[in-house]
Amino acid sequence: MTTDLNHTKRIGILAAMPEELKTFLDEMPDEHQVELAGRTFWVGHWHGHVVIAVLSGIGKVAAAVTSSLLINRFHATEIWFTGVAGGLGEEVRVGDVVVADELMQHDLDARPLFPRFEVPGKGVSVLKTDADLANRAVQAAQVVLQVVAHDGESHAGQLCRQDLDALGIGRPAVHRGLIASGDQFIGSAKASQGIRDAMPAVLAVEMEGAAVAQVCHDFGVPFVVIRTISDRADDEAHIDFQRFITAVASPFSHAVVDAMLRSE
Ligand code: SAH
Repeated sequence: MTTDLNHTKRIGILAAMPEELKTFLDEMPDEHQVELAGRTFWVGHWHGHVVIAVLSGIGKVAAAVTSSLLINRFHATEIWFTGVAGGLGEEVRVGDVVVADELMQHDLDARPLFPRFEVPGKGVSVLKTDADLANRAVQAAQVVLQVVAHDGESHAGQLCRQDLDALGIGRPAVHRGLIASGDQFIGSAKASQGIRDAMPAVLAVEMEGAAVAQVCHDFGVPFVVIRTISDRADDEAHIDFQRFITAVASPFSHAVVDAMLRSE
């Protein structure tokens, strides 16, 4: 691991899916790998920035360990998380993108010691992402989706209208707001309604973001969470999850990260 770059910006990118990580590594020809705690961290450059890319691991504990290592062992000065999520907000459809402004844990409940959802010892239940990173993520996502909407291809050259059509995705939109995380795949109308009832503002549900948020807050590291909606967190499983990941979510994450890095 390089320690001579401690004062420069070092961007830790947590990918939720191997397919996504692969598209990132294709951009980092000089990367070298470091094995730690059963994880492979890839350290290299992308558009001239030092990037440490790694698979997050599924669930809050895995994501917390990976982000702590990114900060402590690889000296990440900011963290970007990309992955998929279930859409909970009325307007949040499959193919849309949700950039988190705030995150909370829908399965955190230490009552009667603390109010429901409150992070013990912190006095808050909602943790904010970095406003500047979130702005840049929203802008990048809008540009990528606009290009795709006009029948073109994203900068990555892989996300295209044809694939969206094949998966029944019309005009994807970008949303910004609250994401809820928990150690459960939410796959029933009952479960997703339960979360909506408890936190009406929630746009999307996933399994890692709020854990990354807590680690980043503890260490004072700015972070952002960017999720492509893969399902509606209800009884209807997505028609073809794997195809969605390969054809839509991974090229989309790649294009957004690429655009964000170029705007640095
Ligand atoms: N159905 C998939 C499994 C996805 S695992 C498969 O067969 O491979 C869930 C991962 O996607 C987690 O990392 C989580 O963050 C995200 N996710 C997507 N939709 C979700 C949902 N409805 N509930 C919880 N997590 C979801």
